[in-house]
Amino acid sequence: MATATKNKDKQQRSTGAHQRAGSSQAQSQTHKPSNHTPLIAAPMPDARAKKRFAKQVLTWFEEHGRKNLPWQIDATPYRVWVSEIMLQQTQVNTVIPYYSAFMQRFASIQQLAEAPQDDVLAHWSGLGYYARARNLHRCAIEVVQQHGGEMPSKLDELIALPGIGRSTAGAIASLSMGKPEPILDGNVKRVLARVYGVEGWPGQKKVQDALWQISEAVTPDTNTGQFNQAMMDLGATLCTRSKPDCARCPLAKTCFALAQNSIALYPGKKPKKVIPVKQTVMLVIKDEQDKLLLHKRPASGIWGGLWSLPEVSDVKDVPAWLHAQHYSAVADAQQIDAFRHTFSHYHLDIVVIEQRVTSIAEAVADQLPVYWYGGGTLPGGVAKPLTKILALLNIQ
Ligand code: SF4
Repeated sequence: MATATKNKDKQQRSTGAHQRAGSSQAQSQTHKPSNHTPLIAAPMPDARAKKRFAKQVLTWFEEHGRKNLPWQIDATPYRVWVSEIMLQQTQVNTVIPYYSAFMQRFASIQQLAEAPQDDVLAHWSGLGYYARARNLHRCAIEVVQQHGGEMPSKLDELIALPGIGRSTAGAIASLSMGKPEPILDGNVKRVLARVYGVEGWPGQKKVQDALWQISEAVTPDTNTGQFNQAMMDLGATLCTRSKPDCARCPLAKTCFALAQNSIALYPGKKPKKVIPVKQTVMLVIKDEQDKLLLHKRPASGIWGGLWSLPEVSDVKDVPAWLHAQHYSAVADAQQIDAFRHTFSHYHLDIVVIEQRVTSIAEAVADQLPVYWYGGGTLPGGVAKPLTKILALLNIQ
């Protein structure tokens, strides 16, 4: 794990803290973070630096910021909250059509709270990271039950709600309520890590704490919503991960990473770790009408609450599974596909077996809801491998 420690190397500190952008010596050197450099290489912003930072960012925003995104129009706490959750793992352009459809179906927090979870997941289908949708739904229910249907205005009450972290709470409070709360989403982390030379992977607590410290220090007490929006825009459009457009950046003159010619080193990369490989067998069970058996997964765990295929752990377990479910095989089982699905914490190698059956009794829906799907509208949100398998089977 390439992290900085609190050991202080005087020479590196001098390079980091006292040579600012524009110094020819600084530009000719490549700064290499090491275990001996301080976590925040540039000096912390004082009151003057804070004022200058906000002015540079807000002036840039006036001309170049995004001001007509759907959630910026009628920016109520509910609308901003939904957009923030959708944007957590997804790009703006992908989010826009999902956001519009979601808002059309769930125009208010009450409508979202009253909707069946399947309906919410179906409107999330394609955005991935379904825990976000489940939390959104739980959160809406909680807001209706505990806050009379209004998003609370206190930061700690927002953070106490399901799926709302400190940055999302800060975004809701500043963008929709005009409160002077800082944020720290992925884009802001990247900008601040570069401008202030914050070393290490932001997923690490001490790195995140350092970034929060800076975000608090540079966020102005007025125009906070605009400033936060500007920081997100700057990260998304100029200070991009691989090709930052420093020539057009309002922070270029004070950017530590640019001065040190070491932009690619900030923010630090997530340490690579070997993740385990697991196996499963997904069953394409088809009845006499060519309908496909879907199972709804338990509410928690992977693909929680989504529709997927029945699974067994090994191909040799298929006959026993059919017997237990009271289905009779009418042909030999056939392997029709095999692929790997990767989660953040493990790989899942999936073998897909097709089996035609006749049902000799009512399906034994003893554990999970089942659905015989013959094409058309799906019964709810679906697990990603099922989307792939439906495409393979040409079922739409
Ligand atoms: S100067 Fe370049 S690296 Fe620094 S904040 Fe601006 S775009 Fe990012």
